[in-house]
Amino acid sequence: MEPGDEVEFYWRGARKKGVFIKEEGKYLIFKLENGYNVGFPKDEIENIKIISKRHVGKPKFHYKPEFREDLPLVGLAATGGTISARVDYITGAVTSEFTVEDLVNTFPEMREVARPKLKQISNIFSENMVPSLWKDIAREIYDLLKETEGVVVTHGTDTMHYTSSYLSFAIETGKPVVLTGAQRSSDRPSSDAAYNLISSLYVAGHSPLGGVFVCMHASSSDGRNAVHLGTRVRKMHTSRRDTFQSIGRDPVAFVDLEMRKGKIDRIDLEVLDPSFSRGDKLNLRNYVNENVGLVKYYPGMKREIFERFLFSHEGVIIEGTGFGHIREELIPIIEQATHSNVFVGITSQTIWGRTHPHVYSTAVRMAEAGAVFLEDMLPETAFAKLVWVMGFEKDLEKIKEHMLTNYAGEITERSGITWISSL
Ligand code: GLU
Repeated sequence: MEPGDEVEFYWRGARKKGVFIKEEGKYLIFKLENGYNVGFPKDEIENIKIISKRHVGKPKFHYKPEFREDLPLVGLAATGGTISARVDYITGAVTSEFTVEDLVNTFPEMREVARPKLKQISNIFSENMVPSLWKDIAREIYDLLKETEGVVVTHGTDTMHYTSSYLSFAIETGKPVVLTGAQRSSDRPSSDAAYNLISSLYVAGHSPLGGVFVCMHASSSDGRNAVHLGTRVRKMHTSRRDTFQSIGRDPVAFVDLEMRKGKIDRIDLEVLDPSFSRGDKLNLRNYVNENVGLVKYYPGMKREIFERFLFSHEGVIIEGTGFGHIREELIPIIEQATHSNVFVGITSQTIWGRTHPHVYSTAVRMAEAGAVFLEDMLPETAFAKLVWVMGFEKDLEKIKEHMLTNYAGEITERSGITWISSL
């Protein structure tokens, strides 16, 4: 048995299946079907069988683009993440090293929905994303949008909703920009990458939608993808395929996709909200201020920490409790900060619902101290928006005006609470 071999064995009477990684003392380490690396004592392993020999090392791909000329040209820009990752069968770790060409070769079905124009922007896990890179991504997408019907951006799922928010503000577009990713790496048979990628390419190339969206699984099984508005979406689960949920509004659309043996049998789009419609507008408003922060208030948060946080930024978004509160003792710090020209915006850590400056006396005092309650904007969206607004505006009153202007559906009139997999 060699590293990378797919095997089946019994341990304490239970059947296990996975990929052999290595031998470590008395243990054999396997990457199991659920994705976890687990060590089993050698003397407890019975009836081990090699199911298939795996190629160790980076698979060799031969990139031969053969696309149907009658299909729409769609930009496919890769930034990294699990969708661009593969399992290293030696270490068992997931590494981000699939290129955008590898993606096309791994999922040849995509050639049935669009003619992708490829662009490798970066190849990083999205926890390593920074606002200056959002700016590069926005510029690349803008350039691709000029010559394509729409753009798909592959991205790690961890911070995809921050990037989708920034792009929603930075690119005013009548064509669809669709961010997608995967919860299981693209080289695994259980990967959600194919459905996400193909559905996204379909939305970008064929849909009547315009704007920035996130397209990911609508439930834990394959077949239906949800198209979420880029400013009202959030990663809500560490591992489920339907981790992305629209918060406070319904998804904009659903894609139904049936595939068998690498062939697409059916693909359909159901638009729920036609107000984000395709059109001609295309403007790049690419502004970034990296001196903006996001902080969650918690019971007992130290005065010094709060003070230092506020005073080491030009603008701060606070995730308050409930309607947006912080401890009364900290309110004078907000006042000092706003007097020193630091913008302080308030969101809620409840995620669902609106902030409110009038219901409780704490909030009334916070508002008097200069804090701006940001309606029902999601904390991550408010952060990305402040990065953007403070990239072109320094005046506190004007920043407040921009923050409370609904640019890309980030503020809803009435906040709903639907969990889409229950639809
Ligand atoms: N943490 C990685 C990222 O966000 C992997 C998660 C994913 O892509 O699903 O890029």
